[in-house]
Amino acid sequence: MRGRFAPSPTGALHLGNLRTALVSWLQARAGGGEWLVRMEDLDRVTSSPHHEAEQLRDLATLGMVSDGAVVRQSERFDLYHQAIATLGAADRVYDCFCSRREIREAAQAPHGEFPDGAYPGTCRTLTAAARSQHLAEGRRPALRLRTEGERFEVSDLIAGRFEGAVDDVVLQRNDGVPAYNLAVVVDDAAQDITDVVRGDDLLSSTPRQMLLQQLLGLPHPRYAHVPLVLAPDGTRLAKRHGAVTLGDLAQRGVTPAQVLALLGESLALCGRDDVVTVPDLLARFRIEQVPTAPWWLATTDL
Ligand code: GLU
Repeated sequence: MRGRFAPSPTGALHLGNLRTALVSWLQARAGGGEWLVRMEDLDRVTSSPHHEAEQLRDLATLGMVSDGAVVRQSERFDLYHQAIATLGAADRVYDCFCSRREIREAAQAPHGEFPDGAYPGTCRTLTAAARSQHLAEGRRPALRLRTEGERFEVSDLIAGRFEGAVDDVVLQRNDGVPAYNLAVVVDDAAQDITDVVRGDDLLSSTPRQMLLQQLLGLPHPRYAHVPLVLAPDGTRLAKRHGAVTLGDLAQRGVTPAQVLALLGESLALCGRDDVVTVPDLLARFRIEQVPTAPWWLATTDL
């Protein structure tokens, strides 16, 4: 058994991210397995070594340290390009010249129960002449997966059964950078990850990843999607909500041990005033008992 936490190093981890990290750590350890941290820094503009160091330090402060070297996606483009070539050899890749605006406009027409941001398929049937014209005009294509109406069911350890259709997801952006769904599938397999624990905003992308795993001949890991964390105003927790990172909270006199107890309380593993370490939380942890409702932070928590 091997779990992982895969943040994008684009800022400090907030309570919601730390809680997801904690669940992934507990799940891996409860099964006697290893736990890895992977930096999803595909986007070099928004990612930074400073944020990476800060995230690793905050995780370590709470007692969570990667069991192996921290892998960076920015250093693995060759692997992703190889996987795209494999899909291309199976005629599962096509060029897409659509701008974001064109996709937004086309996507407004209803097209079934596809995940958020699903691509309506405009460039799927582009003629060779139209394609040459786009290229002659200097437009660089993104690469998309050619789907054939596949659907996948996720047996999620927290969310239960979730079934979704797969759309023609982007495999590579038009600047040559591999896309998240492709990279995550390649890396989870390359790192022998058996248990993917992450925020439930990614549940609707899981059928996409399961199709990519199937097409690339890779195993499906187990999935557990952790419900989101809501700020006192009822919206998804974000930096703008105030003291939501370990650093912010420390400035207000909240110690890492108190943050851990708060996270443990939110998972019904301990009381808020208990003095606990991550191994202490293990004794009572069972992934099936992670609350399925969002964790709604009170104003007094921030
Ligand atoms: N990098 C993603 C994030 O920070 C998580 C991806 C994953 O766990 O699959 O939201």
